[in-house]
Amino acid sequence: MATINDNYLKLKAGYLFPEIARRVSAFAADHPDAPIIKLGIGDVTEPLPAACRDAIIEATKEMGDRSTFKGYGPEQGYLWLRDKIAQQDFQSRGCEIDASEIFISDGSKCDCGNILDIFGNDNKIAVTDPVYPVYVDTNVMAGNTGEFQEGRYKGLVYLPITAENNFTAEIPREKVDLIYLCFPNNPTGATATKEHLKAWVDYAQQHGSLILFDAAYEAFISDPDLPHSIYEIEGAKDCAIEFRSFSKNAGFTGTRCAFTVVPQNLMGKAQDGSAVKIWQLWNRRQCTKFNGVSYIVQRGAEAVYSQAGQAQIKELVSFYLENAKIIREQLTAAGIAVYGGINAPYVWVKTADGLSSWDFFDKLLFNCNVVGTPGSGFGAAGEGYFRISAFNSRDNVNEAMKRITEKFTA
Ligand code: PLP
Repeated sequence: MATINDNYLKLKAGYLFPEIARRVSAFAADHPDAPIIKLGIGDVTEPLPAACRDAIIEATKEMGDRSTFKGYGPEQGYLWLRDKIAQQDFQSRGCEIDASEIFISDGSKCDCGNILDIFGNDNKIAVTDPVYPVYVDTNVMAGNTGEFQEGRYKGLVYLPITAENNFTAEIPREKVDLIYLCFPNNPTGATATKEHLKAWVDYAQQHGSLILFDAAYEAFISDPDLPHSIYEIEGAKDCAIEFRSFSKNAGFTGTRCAFTVVPQNLMGKAQDGSAVKIWQLWNRRQCTKFNGVSYIVQRGAEAVYSQAGQAQIKELVSFYLENAKIIREQLTAAGIAVYGGINAPYVWVKTADGLSSWDFFDKLLFNCNVVGTPGSGFGAAGEGYFRISAFNSRDNVNEAMKRITEKFTA
């Protein structure tokens, strides 16, 4: 019998979403007529922007003609897309990122996990608590942690993000090698100021650490003072990798396109102590294990950068942000404390009456037929909180808020 990667056995069974599904189906079986509204998951609901659809149709036609047909493309992505990203997402904000530093992929989730291929197993790794679970689970799979005990994996450094520290990860006192940061944050909806990111970049430079910065929700930043990219901070090109995605700004969750920025001058350390270009390793990893995103999808992503595409994604993001505003205002009016949801599609709710995250989940399900996500599912420090997603139709958001306000203000 072939042996297996025993690290997988350390993984806590996919608990959060299966448990939500179990409780919702049990409730639906007992209450078949209950009009359940799901504000739990982070998937988008609105269709692809017209500019992207048109580009995808055109590209599909090209694939049907021998003279314009495309086979394998560059593993790093087509230059016409990488150039537009470099110019419009980075250079226009004063970040000196060029096309060679951009790697197109089929998703940030994959990149966040795959990036561990190029790092050693002896790094000290910090994650926030609560956290997007992919960072933690991929480290467990890679053998970078010990066992799961009392809500946490041994070997990881957890940085609590709570109301007490304004939902910004506190800089650790000890030295860590890899740090995962996600702003705007999933699940808390919190953002990071330039000063906060500068403190992280200073820390990373001082300790030779590398920041893995997940900016999947960058498009939701509406405050002009907030940084969209970590490269807006001086020195970040020497200590940070950034993950971006078309999933949430342009509705590509099912279409699949994202990118990762690996600066050319970023260095890592080999076992013999010599310095090695991280870019070179990631490039090699992608060339060996990845065959690029389809031409058709990359053309769809390119359309995001057209004038029409920019206007359409702005409209899409504004639609979800308006949902978030409604959620924030209605819950606040019902006497419930809320955070986030201003520059992010997630509203982070303090559970009412000191209920645990799961008790609040049950209360909303049974009394309002509304489903959200218990904060404790994102980490021990998420206990007592609850995530409500703004990714939904306006009707569903209005109806869900009406039911909650009626119950909680009654
Ligand atoms: N990063 C964060 C913080 C996310 O919340 C998500 C999806 O919900 C992703 C990355 C995944 O993005 P993608 O669809 O590009 O894989």
